[in-house]
Amino acid sequence: MNEPIVSARSVRKSFGHVEVLKGIDMDVHAGEVACLLGPSGSGKSTFLRCINHLEKIDGGQLWVHGERIGYRRIGDRLRELKEHETSRQRASVGMVFQQFNLFPHRTALENVIEGPMVVQRRPKAEVVEEGMALLERVGLAEKRNHYPGQLSGGQQQRVAIARALALKPSVMLFDEPTSALDPELVGEVLDVMVQLAASGMTMIVVTHEMGFAKEVGDVVHFMADGCLVESGDPCQVLEDPREARTQAFLSKVL
Ligand code: ADP
Ligand code: MG
Repeated sequence: MNEPIVSARSVRKSFGHVEVLKGIDMDVHAGEVACLLGPSGSGKSTFLRCINHLEKIDGGQLWVHGERIGYRRIGDRLRELKEHETSRQRASVGMVFQQFNLFPHRTALENVIEGPMVVQRRPKAEVVEEGMALLERVGLAEKRNHYPGQLSGGQQQRVAIARALALKPSVMLFDEPTSALDPELVGEVLDVMVQLAASGMTMIVVTHEMGFAKEVGDVVHFMADGCLVESGDPCQVLEDPREARTQAFLSKVL
């Protein structure tokens, strides 16, 4: 098997005296869609935030595309990156949040091209063309000049996906991307994610959408209380879980 795109080894994270991640081991391979399930408070968001430099881990190691998160290799030594040096690594990880997090005073297209222009300092003409192609891909080319407030939740989330893709990440993280949406808008966002998975994107998706996990997921990881309790084929984990904690959770949500 090829080297994983994302690799977690004994990842630990505490907030004060509370240990929120108690040694997570996980590999996500190229093109894989890994769905992360678990009760509220089990550490799913924190785990994603660690992969995207939004939180710093206290122990263990995180690797993205062969690079250790937060470190740079110099010869055969690893040196810890300073905060202002993390943007290149951060750009290799796209993240989509429950609450869209678009810039309210920028249009759909401006939201999408902001990263390439600011982080990568690329010329506007070049990134506008790519930005339009991305909006096209999420079905929103005609909304390019609309502000977030003029778009539905589903449309805003599709812009957020296009924006995350603009930096050409090697992995996309989704943290409950449809949880804040009215039910009738969930489908259009899942459709974009299905398309993205089919294009070969490596994805880690925190979701309560069991249908998505079963149909699109290559693997389901079940987390509880800061631990990875069980991982496996989506149908096996969702229909015939081995662990009591997984069974208890699924009996409540299914
Ligand atoms: P999940 O996404 O699975 O619901 P989270 O990762 O959001 O879980 O949270 C795991 C635990 O960490 C919760 O108990 C939460 O209250 C706590 N937590 C998360 N972020 C912080 C923070 N910035 N400061 C203190 N506690 C936090
Ligand atoms: Mg969460």
